[in-house]
Amino acid sequence: MRKVIGGIAVLILASAAVLLLLWLLNRPASADAEPAPPTSIAVLPSPTETPRRRDWEAVVQGELLAAQTAPPPTFTLAPTHTPTPPLSLLWQHTPTPTRFQPDRATVAAPIAAASPEAPAIARNNDPRRGEFSPPPEQVPLSLDPRDHFWFRRPVDSSANSASIFWYAYGSDGPRNEWRVHHGVDLPNPIGKEVRASAAGRVIWAADNYVWYENGRYVESAYTYGNVVIIEHNFGFQGKRLYTLYAHLQVILVEVGQDVQTGEIIGLSGRSGVVSGPHVHFEVRVGRNSYYETRNPILWMAPYENHGVIAGRVLFSDGTPVQDVTVSLLRNGRVVDTTTTYVNPRLPNKRTWNVNSDEVWRENFVIGDVTAGVYQLAVNVGGRRLVRDVIVRPATTSFVDFSESEAVPLPTPSPTPAG
Ligand SMILES: [Zn+2]
Repeated sequence: MRKVIGGIAVLILASAAVLLLLWLLNRPASADAEPAPPTSIAVLPSPTETPRRRDWEAVVQGELLAAQTAPPPTFTLAPTHTPTPPLSLLWQHTPTPTRFQPDRATVAAPIAAASPEAPAIARNNDPRRGEFSPPPEQVPLSLDPRDHFWFRRPVDSSANSASIFWYAYGSDGPRNEWRVHHGVDLPNPIGKEVRASAAGRVIWAADNYVWYENGRYVESAYTYGNVVIIEHNFGFQGKRLYTLYAHLQVILVEVGQDVQTGEIIGLSGRSGVVSGPHVHFEVRVGRNSYYETRNPILWMAPYENHGVIAGRVLFSDGTPVQDVTVSLLRNGRVVDTTTTYVNPRLPNKRTWNVNSDEVWRENFVIGDVTAGVYQLAVNVGGRRLVRDVIVRPATTSFVDFSESEAVPLPTPSPTPAG
């Protein structure tokens, strides 16, 4: 009996031990249980794979290199071109041109019978002066095959290129007191970076400009002060292209040096004959000569969402009307004015000052116009001509005025007696 009891006790103990073991094995892990060590996933290159630089290393090294060689932060690298939206979209979203709204005091009245010429906007009060400009389009740019915006601006977007309108190409000034202008002026303080507008070779980099061609004297001008001229490594219609940068404070390139688009060639200043520090910029086509300039606005890429207006004002016989005011209006208000070229080159003319573009044959140009719908107005021989013009981004809109189509200006009606 005692043996039987002992056997039962052993059986019970054994069963209990088994049950305890089972419970221990199957109990759920408690919350404060020590977490299992993380499974380490070691990614090792497979033995067959050749060890090579990882992509991120290339990116970091590239960025480090770029940081070392990057131009100063003010330099506007050519941005990715914003695709032009479809026209339908564009005109739905034409923004109000707050940037280009002149001050109340500077708004010229719409052309009226009493004033044969629209009064010129007081340009020294130009609200655009000194304002930050949007990035320019990438060069070369020819959305319209007739366009050749192949040069970047010689100054940065953070610098001032708005006042290229102050002393327009082909103009002799608001009161005809200046020499006819063969370039555009970009007023900027002394010391702003001036950059090559496209790649090429420096052919002049000094003051007291004197130019010889095959040993023969061509021209000279001390008035330019420190001036750089670049002959570009591309041409136009089989002709060579040159750009000129005058009144520099410092020249930072040498003759014979090859420069890339945007490379610093000097600093803006007031050397030569100037009324204030600015960059005088010329585009010369075919030959490095003062008499072979073209309007730089037709060559410089516009700012994003801006376009250019070019046109001509002709007498009935087809000859260009010189030195007449062309007014750009939006919603009935004058937003810009320019004048037609004085003494442009004509086929039967011995002397001339400036040239029209090979493609456009214009005698006036207005640049940096916000895309949108405008009116252009001009008075010729007591007649008023008005044209609607749509300005599209990154392209030139052309407007033709002929005296023969002009509508006579209305004669003012006598004041009714009363
Ligand atoms: Zn100038």
